[in-house]
Amino acid sequence: MPSVLIAGGGLVGSVNACLFGREGWRVTVFESRSDPRGNALQRGRSFNLALGFRAMETLKHIGILEDVIKMGVPIKQKINHLEDEEGVLEKLLLLKEGDFILTINRQKLSKLLIKKAESYSNVKFRFGHKATKYDVECEKLLVESPDGSQITVEGDLILVCDGAHSTIRRSLLRTPQFNFSQKYCDIGYMDLSVPIENVSELKLGIHYSWRRKGVILVALVNRDRTLTVSLFANFTVFAENCSTPENSVLFFQKHFSLIYSIIGERHIFYTFSRYKPQAIISVQCSRHGFFDKLLLMGDAAHAMLPFQGQGANCGFEDCLVLQEILEETGEDGLKSLVQQYSEVRTNDTNMMNKMEWEGYVQLVENMQNPNRSFGWFNKMK
Ligand code: FAD
Repeated sequence: MPSVLIAGGGLVGSVNACLFGREGWRVTVFESRSDPRGNALQRGRSFNLALGFRAMETLKHIGILEDVIKMGVPIKQKINHLEDEEGVLEKLLLLKEGDFILTINRQKLSKLLIKKAESYSNVKFRFGHKATKYDVECEKLLVESPDGSQITVEGDLILVCDGAHSTIRRSLLRTPQFNFSQKYCDIGYMDLSVPIENVSELKLGIHYSWRRKGVILVALVNRDRTLTVSLFANFTVFAENCSTPENSVLFFQKHFSLIYSIIGERHIFYTFSRYKPQAIISVQCSRHGFFDKLLLMGDAAHAMLPFQGQGANCGFEDCLVLQEILEETGEDGLKSLVQQYSEVRTNDTNMMNKMEWEGYVQLVENMQNPNRSFGWFNKMK
């Protein structure tokens, strides 16, 4: 059986490992971090993903959709708290009958995918192994092992899934006809997720958001009695209002009194003293296939702004499209597989990326007027 090397064992790397593992390929995944299954959920770095049809199709193929639905929360309603001169206005929006978006904690989904991939004896995860370079001359992947030694590995196919700041992509930048661009947006985010007792004000299965000038706060109740709270704001808003833990507490008290009362002053103080707002990047590549054997996939190929929740959905779709093309080309047609995949996915994901930017421009405009309906934002995912 042919072999596939996967750089990055995040969401997209693990989905690829499941799909190639099932086909009997020899799969090795190099993941720079330690095994996430040994770690508690990382506070401040944890957020929920909204999964739509394309992600759910992929999970169905892998055979874990039922488990993910049980762990996650199907969202059928959105409640937007808008602010106007007369105070707070609440607006209820319903999705179509039978329609839902599945939200799940990203770290929990990642652990589940790794477990599924490792259930195939032909799949091996090498945690603590950092992929450092693709050596074009000798067609090998260079990997740094936990003791700091360098190893070179070769495979029939190499899938680069090491995220938005991909190290391997950097080693391809001098390849002719490879254009790459990245853009940061002006909005950053803070994760304030926290365990909660039962709160009567917030219900499971509802997506809550609060709009204030230049700010959106999103809250979701999870099955495990945690509350996911994400604050999206322009960096100038963060600088003016949340530059210290003390003024962050006051900001929540004044603008998000309900969330303030639920998550508490101590938690807000702790989070803002420990973490900084995270930047959000978008990445575009002019092609995703190289040297007839290497593919950029997921965020390494097309990191997207998160406001319409397309990043993981598109990354999961990458994996399914690759399998569909592989069915046609067979294992002996890897050159054609790489070429066809690159053609199809470069165009499609660049288009999605463009749509995310257009949505973001509209979002920034609407954030100046929090009472206006966000149209596309309400239809997101
Ligand atoms: P990652 O998840 O970043 O995984 C990359 C992996 O590679 C990591 O495990 C990393 O440790 C590892 N790695 C990095 N460098 C190396 C190296 N040199 N060698 C080996 N391993 C390496 N998407 C949605 O579809 N819906 C949403 O609702 C949504 N919400 C989002 C909200 C926010 C705030 C953000 C920031 C993103 C959101 N996204 C959403 C996007 C989604 O999180 C990403 O698209 C998705 O995580 C991409 O998966 P990936 O596997 O390509 O990259």
